Amino acid sequence: AYARLLHTQRMEAIGRLSAGVAHDFNNILSVILGHAGTSTAGGGAGFDGIRKAARRGAMLTRRLLSFGRTQVGEISRFDLAEAIEDMRPLLVPMFPRNVEVRLEAASGRLPVELDREELELALLNIASNACDAMPDGGRFELSVHACGADAVIRVADTGIGMAPEVASRVFEPFFTTKPRDSGTGIGMSIVHRFVTDAGGGIELESAPGEGTRLEVRLPLASAAGIDRAPRRRTLLVTAD
Ligand code: ADP
Repeated sequence: AYARLLHTQRMEAIGRLSAGVAHDFNNILSVILGHAGTSTAGGGAGFDGIRKAARRGAMLTRRLLSFGRTQVGEISRFDLAEAIEDMRPLLVPMFPRNVEVRLEAASGRLPVELDREELELALLNIASNACDAMPDGGRFELSVHACGADAVIRVADTGIGMAPEVASRVFEPFFTTKPRDSGTGIGMSIVHRFVTDAGGGIELESAPGEGTRLEVRLPLASAAGIDRAPRRRTLLVTAD
C-alpha cells in the first residue's frame, strides 16, 4: 500500500509538472519567436535572448524526462574529470558574455560509477541556477578533485545568493523563488536525488549578495566497486 501511495503521489507530481511544463514551454517559444524577429545574424541582445530561451526549453524537457523516470538509469564507469571536461562545450555557452566561466577538471584518475546522463543533468541544473543568479554578470567556477575516497566537485557563483529560509528549502521539489514562467522548482531536487542515489553528499553555503557555493561529494569507484549505501546526509551551511 505504501508503494502504491508513493506511486500515486509521483503521478500527481508528474501531472502537475506536465501542466507547468506545457505552460512554460509556450512562454519560452514566444520569447524565442519574439527575439528571432529582432535578431541580426547571430549577434546582439536578441541573440542572447534566443540562447537563454533555448537553453531553458532544452533543460525543461530533460528535467521532465528525468523526474518521471521510475528506474535507475544506466550506471557506467568513467573518469569524472574527463566527463566534466567533455561538458565544457555545453556549460560555457550557457552563460552570457558578462559572466567569466572557469572550469578546472585537472585530468587525473577520478574513476566513478554513475549514471552519466544524470550527472550531466545535475551539473547543468546547478549551472543554470548560477546563470539565473547573475543577471548582471559575475564569475562561475567549477572544479573537481579527489579527496580521500571521494571525488569532490566544487561549484561557486558570485550571484545574488540565498537567505537562510531559501537555502533550507532549495532541495525541496517544486520550491522556487522564480516567477511562474521561469522556475519549476525541480532542478535542485533532481541534483539532490542524483547525489543521494550515488551514495554521495552535498553541502550548500550561501548568503544574500555573497553568491553560492556547492560541494558535491561522489564516491570514487575502487577496483572492488563502490558502496552504494548513502553515507552522508545533506548538510546545509548558511551564513548571513
Ligand atoms: P528553479 O531554478 O526552477 O527555481 P531549483 O530547484 O533549481 O528550481 O532551485 C530552487 C530555488 O533555489 C531557486 O528558485 C532559487 O531561489 C534557489 N537557488 C538555487 N540555486 C541558486 C543559486 N546558485 N543562487 C541563488 N539561488 C539559487
